[in-house]
Amino acid sequence: MNKQDISNIKQLLSSPKKIVIVPHKNPDGDAIGSTLGLYHYLLKNNHQAQVIVPNDYPTFLKWVPGNDSILIHDAQTTSCNALINDADIIFTLDFNAFHRTGNMESVLAESRAMKIMIDHHQAPDNYATYMYSDVRMSSTCEMVYHFIDFLGDQSLIDANIAACLYLGIMTDTGSFRFSCTTSTTHRIIANLIEKGADNSSIHNNVYDTNSFERLQLLGCALTNLKIIPESRAAYITLSQDELNRYNYKKGDTEGIVNYALSLDGIVLAAIFIEDRQEGIIKISLRSKGDFSVNELSRAHFNGGGHTNAAGGRSEVSLIKTVEKFISILPSYNQDLNHA
Ligand code: 5GP
Ligand code: MN
Repeated sequence: MNKQDISNIKQLLSSPKKIVIVPHKNPDGDAIGSTLGLYHYLLKNNHQAQVIVPNDYPTFLKWVPGNDSILIHDAQTTSCNALINDADIIFTLDFNAFHRTGNMESVLAESRAMKIMIDHHQAPDNYATYMYSDVRMSSTCEMVYHFIDFLGDQSLIDANIAACLYLGIMTDTGSFRFSCTTSTTHRIIANLIEKGADNSSIHNNVYDTNSFERLQLLGCALTNLKIIPESRAAYITLSQDELNRYNYKKGDTEGIVNYALSLDGIVLAAIFIEDRQEGIIKISLRSKGDFSVNELSRAHFNGGGHTNAAGGRSEVSLIKTVEKFISILPSYNQDLNHA
C-alpha cells in the first residue's frame, strides 16, 4: 500500500465506524482467518465490526476465535443486507470481484459504503476506494498482518488475532510448502507464535479431525484417479452418487486434488466434483512450476485464481466436463512438458 493510502485509512479508522467484513463464497481457512483476524483488530480499535460470509463453511474451521459472531448471508439474508446497507466501510477480503460472493454480489455492488479490498488473487476488479492487492502474497492473512503493521498496530496483535492469521497462512501455503511461502512468511509465522498462536493445536484442529466417512470418500477419489502421461496431467472425479454414499459434508473434498498433483512427473491436476443441487461441476485445478491454471480456468472453465491454484465450474455433465478437459489438453502439451 502507498503511504498516502495508509495515512488516509489511518485517519478514517481514527474514529469508531460501522464496518462489515466479507470473504468469498465457500470460505476457506484464509477467508475465515483473515476476516476474523481483521474483526478482532477492529474491535480493539472500538469499531462496530461484523463478519458476514456468503454461505456456510466446513466444521474444521469452526474452532476459530470469534466463529460464533459470524453471520451467514444465505441463512440470515434480511438482517445481513440491513447491516451492509448501514455500514460506513466494507472490507472485502480474499476475493477480487463481487461475483465471487455468490448471492451477496448485488447488495455489495449497490452499497454506498466505502470499500477496502485486501486480496492476493490475479486480475482484481476496480470497485474499491482503497485496494491492497498483491498476487505475490502467500495469503490474505499475511496481508492482514502487514495491514495492521502499516497502521502501526503490531503491538495490538493478541493470541486471538494471531490464531486467525496463522490459520490462513497455514492453509493457503499448504502448511508452508508452496512456492508462495517466503522468508517473510516464516518470520510472520514466528511472530504469530510469539503472540500466542498455538501452532500445534491449529494444525490438529484443521488436519486431524477427519471423520471415517471422509477418509472412505478419499479412498473412492483415489480409486477414480486417472493419468494422462503425454500431458503430464492427472484428474479425479467425484459424482453426486459417490458423495452421497459417503455422507458428504462441506469441506470433505478439500485438499483431495493435491493427491493427484503429488504424483511424480505430474504438473497439472484437476478434480471434478458433481453438485446436482446447483446443477454444476465444481472444478479445482493445481499445477507445479510456471504452468498457469488461472489462465486455463479463465479460458475454459469460467473461473480463475492463482498461477498454481485455481477454481472453476462447468454447466454440462460430469462426463462431458471431463471430455472437455481431455480435449483441451493437447493445446497445452508444449507448456505442460516444459513446466
Ligand atoms: P479451490 O480450488 O480451492 O476452490 O480454489 C483455488 C483458488 O482459486 C482459491 O484461491 C480460490 O479463491 C480461487 N478460485 C476458486 N474458484 C474461483 C473462481 O471461480 N474464480 C476465481 N477468480 N477464483 C477462484
Ligand atoms: Mn487466499
